[in-house]
Amino acid sequence: MTGQDKVGSALRVVIFLGPPGVGKGTVASRIAAEEGFQFVSSGDLLRANVGGRTSLGEEARRYMEAGDLVPDDLVTRMVTGHLDTVEGPVILDGFPRTLAQAEELSAYLGNGHDGVLVVDLTAADQFLKDRLAGRLICRGCGRIYHRVNLPPRRDGSCDDCGGELYQREDDRPEVILERLKVYHRQSAPVRDYYRERRLAHTVPGDRPLEETLETVRRLISGDSG
Ligand code: AMP
Repeated sequence: MTGQDKVGSALRVVIFLGPPGVGKGTVASRIAAEEGFQFVSSGDLLRANVGGRTSLGEEARRYMEAGDLVPDDLVTRMVTGHLDTVEGPVILDGFPRTLAQAEELSAYLGNGHDGVLVVDLTAADQFLKDRLAGRLICRGCGRIYHRVNLPPRRDGSCDDCGGELYQREDDRPEVILERLKVYHRQSAPVRDYYRERRLAHTVPGDRPLEETLETVRRLISGDSG
C-alpha cells in the first residue's frame, strides 16, 4: 500500500507529537490497540534495527546514545518503508520530529491532509524529567511502567509477560536534559507546521492516564476539537 492510498481511502493517520516523557508511547499504543490502528513508533523501529545490528541500526546507534536525533533521511526512509508494508489506519509515535520529516511525510501521504489528525501532548520540563527518570520498560513485551506512578505488581518484572524491566540507556538524567533541549529546538517547528494547517490538537499530558486517554478518544471519534 502506498502513502496516497492511506489517506485516499477512509483510512486515517493519527500523528502523536510531544516531548520525551509526556506519555506519547503509552497513550498512542493504548489508543491504537483500542481503536484498531496499527501502531508505528520510529523509536521502536530504530531500537529493533540497533538490536538486530542492521546497517541502519549501526549508523543510528551513536546518535541515539547521545540523545541526538538520527538524521532525517535515515529515519524517513525507515518509517515510510515500514508504512508501505502496513495495512489500515496508523498511529505514528515519534515521527515526524523535524520540519523536514513533516514535509516528507506530507509528500508521502499525498496532497492535502484528509484523514490526518495530530495529537500534541504537552507538559512542563520538570514533570517530564521526573517521569523519564522513573520509567521502566519490559524486555519481553515493551510495556511501560513507572517506579512511582505506575509500578509493576512485582518489583522488576512485567505484570503481563513476566519479562525483566529495565531503564532505557537514554533515560539517564544527563541524557534526558539533552533530549528535552533537542525536542524544544527541533520539534517546535513541527508543531507550528501542523498548527498552521489546523490539524494539531493540544492535549495536556500531565493528567492521570485515563483522563488523557479519554480526551484523545474524543478527538479521534470527532467529538471535540
Ligand atoms: P523515542 O523512543 O521516540 O524516544 O526515540 C528514541 C531515540 O530514537 C531518540 O532520542 C532519537 O535518537 C531517535 N529517534 C526516534 N524517532 C526519531 C525521529 N523521528 N527522528 C530522529 N530521531 C529519532
